[in-house]
Amino acid sequence: RATVCAPCSRLHAGDTFHLVRAGLLGGKSVPATVRDRPRLFVTLTAPSFGPVHGAGARCRPRRDRARCEHGRLLGCGAVHDTNDAVVGQPLCADCYDYPAHVLWHAHAGKLWDRFVIGVRRQLASAVGVTQSRFPDHARLSFARVAEYQKRAAVHVHAVVRLDGPNGPTNEPPNWGTADRLIDAVRASAHRVAIRTAYSP
Ligand SMILES: [Zn+2]
Ligand SMILES: [Zn+2]
Ligand SMILES: [Zn+2]
Repeated sequence: RATVCAPCSRLHAGDTFHLVRAGLLGGKSVPATVRDRPRLFVTLTAPSFGPVHGAGARCRPRRDRARCEHGRLLGCGAVHDTNDAVVGQPLCADCYDYPAHVLWHAHAGKLWDRFVIGVRRQLASAVGVTQSRFPDHARLSFARVAEYQKRAAVHVHAVVRLDGPNGPTNEPPNWGTADRLIDAVRASAHRVAIRTAYSP
């Protein structure tokens, strides 16, 4: 299935994407048997830190001419070109939560690590397997590509695949279905959080 993410279209043509694709379909030293495995193509997006200008259709149309507490318009009726410098910039720099933005990006790698651990944990507890015995039953593989969006907020495209204990040539147990994997991914992405010295 061809999924195209506009900000990553360049990336999709590149080597990294082919590596991720191999994780889904096989190829590049990954056996074709992975086609039979439960596998997901996942996109993880940063939370919104405030409204930003967007390209393509009308930016942020609003009927009223409401303004924020800094006197800036809450809407934008313009149609911006992709290369327009304003694209990705906050509508109001004072309303935009820059501290949260900076913290999120500083911790994106750690958030990913926690997400990975969380998926394994969710899946194990859903099927009644202890963490320590999980490797005896199945193996989870993750391949990720991180790409900066126009608003400088990272989103991550990743492949998650479930194999048997010996890897891609090995079938996962009966409980290892795509639905179970989806539930585990959703639950983990929802729960992942990091406390920093600056967290509210
Ligand atoms: Zn993308
Ligand atoms: Zn705009
Ligand atoms: Zn404002």
